[in-house]
Amino acid sequence: MEPSVHHIWKRLSHRLHRTLILPKRSNSGHPEHAAVSASSHSRCIKPSLLVSRLYQPSHLRDVGQDSRLAGEMTCKSQMLMQQAGLIHPSNPGCYYYLPAMVRSMEKLVRVIDQEMHEIGGQKLDMPSLCSADLWKTSERWDLMGKELFRLKDRHGADYCLGPTHEEAVTTLVAHQANLSYKQLPLLLYQITRKFRDEPKPKFGLLRGREFYMKDMYSFDVSEEAAHHTYRSVCQAYMRLFARLGLRCVQVNADTGNIGGTLSHEFQLPADIGEDRLLVCGDCSFSANVETLSLDRTDCPQCKNGKLIESKGIEVGHTFYLGKKYSHIFKASFSNQENKPTVAEMGCYGLGVTRILAAAIEVMSTEEGICWPGLIAPYQVCVLPPKKGSKVDNAVVLAEELVHTVGEAIPHLRNEVVLDDRTQMTIGKRLKDASRLGYPYVVVVGQAALEETPKFEVICQKTGETTFLSKEAVLDLLGGVETV
Ligand SMILES: [Zn+2]
Repeated sequence: MEPSVHHIWKRLSHRLHRTLILPKRSNSGHPEHAAVSASSHSRCIKPSLLVSRLYQPSHLRDVGQDSRLAGEMTCKSQMLMQQAGLIHPSNPGCYYYLPAMVRSMEKLVRVIDQEMHEIGGQKLDMPSLCSADLWKTSERWDLMGKELFRLKDRHGADYCLGPTHEEAVTTLVAHQANLSYKQLPLLLYQITRKFRDEPKPKFGLLRGREFYMKDMYSFDVSEEAAHHTYRSVCQAYMRLFARLGLRCVQVNADTGNIGGTLSHEFQLPADIGEDRLLVCGDCSFSANVETLSLDRTDCPQCKNGKLIESKGIEVGHTFYLGKKYSHIFKASFSNQENKPTVAEMGCYGLGVTRILAAAIEVMSTEEGICWPGLIAPYQVCVLPPKKGSKVDNAVVLAEELVHTVGEAIPHLRNEVVLDDRTQMTIGKRLKDASRLGYPYVVVVGQAALEETPKFEVICQKTGETTFLSKEAVLDLLGGVETV
């Protein structure tokens, strides 16, 4: 350590001593107060906020050569996620989700929870281990074929690992003997791991065999009420994608083996997409190719618009089910005349891990990840200068900045990391930063040591670099939205 830095350390630890003895002042939010108390804690940045300590193994040089993925097709999001240490392959279609990835996923889950709560959704958690009896009752045990992961328990009873939970949730509601019309609509959802035995897992998290999904099920008093619920869920989905800054199209879809009569897919237009969409150039009409006759080129809705084909990644799917499952499992409620009545149902899926991969697919470049800001693993990365460089006494200022941000902007307290790998050049660390994708990177270098200290702030979204005073940095970061 350089003598000058050592000197500053000594001064800081002296201050630390003093503030520990003095009663702690409540945070006024004023940058100067924050700065004074912050500088005293510089030496104790949590290890979880030091880049040198983050568990981000990114040693996979060539994703295509990985034997665990042999035969799987790769794509941009998969390569970026592995390079940045977000995921690590285990066996075909299955991945470790590493700490930065889990941070991002937990944020996405919070956004989903907020939107589901907004329309009256109640969260629960159902077993992944599902009894075959239920699936036989709905006749899907045979219908699902090889996609269903099947297993036997020690008594020889058949089970499957749930890919979806219509049977389970409908049985649950059927068991409530005294369900009243006053309690409807009832919207139950979960965010859990789902399993599907894909013949060819590919594209990383876009088509895996084990993944996270949000699945919601609605119970209503009438067809009309069920349609109303259906529309409100679709609107919540569109709000969710708008909050994430993702362009999403809601298209008419095939009902497949889930059943029912009305269905929509939520698609993010992308080249890698496996679904072919037809979108009208003139009105809001869009549909999955599967649902239209193939020779169709003019729009059925506005009659004069031309349908343009594009590819999309399906990130959500909604179905109006009617009484298909509620009739089989006898999920009924007592109506106004106190007579038992079979409920009208809908089901609504969102691919949680798929949204993360799809967002990276559509927003990022080959060089680095660009996240929807709200769900980036961390919001800010602070870069101190290289050790042994002429300006390396700015290291302390970088640590101080991390603390100041945490104290002045409480919602960013655990969102600012310090890239303390000061044996590396700024350039190398900047490259790593753009690989993982921090909405803001703050370089603390020469300009921070000048009489009026300035920090170099790089905004990932706009690509702009600006030199700002500490107050201006705090102003800017204060406006960063988190969840
Ligand atoms: Zn049209």
